[in-house]
Amino acid sequence: MKVIYSPQLMEEAAFRHLSHLERSGYRSEYDEYHSLADPIYELPEDDREIAFEKVNKIFFIERLKLGDHVLRALEAVGLIPKRKRTTKRAQLAAVALGADETPSELEESSSSIHGVPVDDDSQETSFDDDLVSPTDSDLQVEDNPQEDNQDTEDTDGVVSYDMVRDFEERIIEVHVKRAINKVDEGSNVLNRISGKPMIEMRVLASRFCNPEEAQELDAFLIQEFMHAKDMVDPEFDYEDAFIPGNPSVKNLITARFRLLWNLYVDARLARAGIISTMPREARYREFDNFYRKVPEKQRRGIFEGIWQTEKFTHEELLSMATDLESLMSKYVDDVDITEEERDYIHLQGSPCPLCKFPTYNWVDDPESICDEMVIEAIQIDFPDWENKDGGCDRCIEVYELRAGV
Ligand SMILES: [Zn+2]
Repeated sequence: MKVIYSPQLMEEAAFRHLSHLERSGYRSEYDEYHSLADPIYELPEDDREIAFEKVNKIFFIERLKLGDHVLRALEAVGLIPKRKRTTKRAQLAAVALGADETPSELEESSSSIHGVPVDDDSQETSFDDDLVSPTDSDLQVEDNPQEDNQDTEDTDGVVSYDMVRDFEERIIEVHVKRAINKVDEGSNVLNRISGKPMIEMRVLASRFCNPEEAQELDAFLIQEFMHAKDMVDPEFDYEDAFIPGNPSVKNLITARFRLLWNLYVDARLARAGIISTMPREARYREFDNFYRKVPEKQRRGIFEGIWQTEKFTHEELLSMATDLESLMSKYVDDVDITEEERDYIHLQGSPCPLCKFPTYNWVDDPESICDEMVIEAIQIDFPDWENKDGGCDRCIEVYELRAGV
């Protein structure tokens, strides 16, 4: 697997990181950067871009080690093997160089200022090369000793190693690009069908700026790579599914699907002891918003049920997102919920009592928002209808027009 960073990302991330260091009183990298970058302006104009790219790459990858966030995230989700094999070599190399082993980012970058390659195949990661493979650069990562104890990595490392090898071979390339804004951030797996899958990750360069925000950056990358991993996992069986319905229905289903998938990602990360982008309670509040029509007790039950589930397929998540009934039947015992409560929930996708069309936008309590005349107009057509039966937003609108309000 190759990890390729776009020149735009490397440029902005390195620049922001260096400026942050400079503002925090660490000038050495900043000065070094300028000593390399400033003379580039003397070059013929046509040569400058490439020269800047080289300097940015040196700083992004070697000096500031910003690519390590990506490699660590790939490792954490099991898309590349944990680079333990090289730990000892790296530590030896570090010791041989007299490098400081303090794990703090600032120390890390200042100790690397020697600019001495730590390993002998490091020229492969040099700026002449467009790509960095994880095994090439891993020696540079290991400034802080791995805490994992040797025994467990030997025993249980074997199985998971094979699995990650599988993924590593399945995904040919990871392209990390600069996102233009927050909405642009995210990941996708391209060429999934053609058999040469490639992860495209878009991330804000500003996330690389502040070492204190490194945990957030890592959590973001891990969250995204988990999705990408699911997409190439035959057991998850991802498909570009057609979601039926009008745009607002599609949006709702898509949003719920994303939520359920994130929840599934969070739960697995929590079991692995990895910090997610969102704490569990915050994810529950998000869940809460989408399912507030389900009574509290059942809502908790559904959330718990999903959280505990070890494995989902894409199809299961999508059907739960499409049809609340399938979500309820999976996690809520019939005895838990009275017929009356169930009627009142107005399951998304269940028919409107007035027009009988599958309904995603319910008006739960028309009385609270409509004139009395509207309620009367409905009851003229549907004598058995009660306010608590609700209706779709379109029907309510029609009756509002009819009642002339
Ligand atoms: Zn209706």
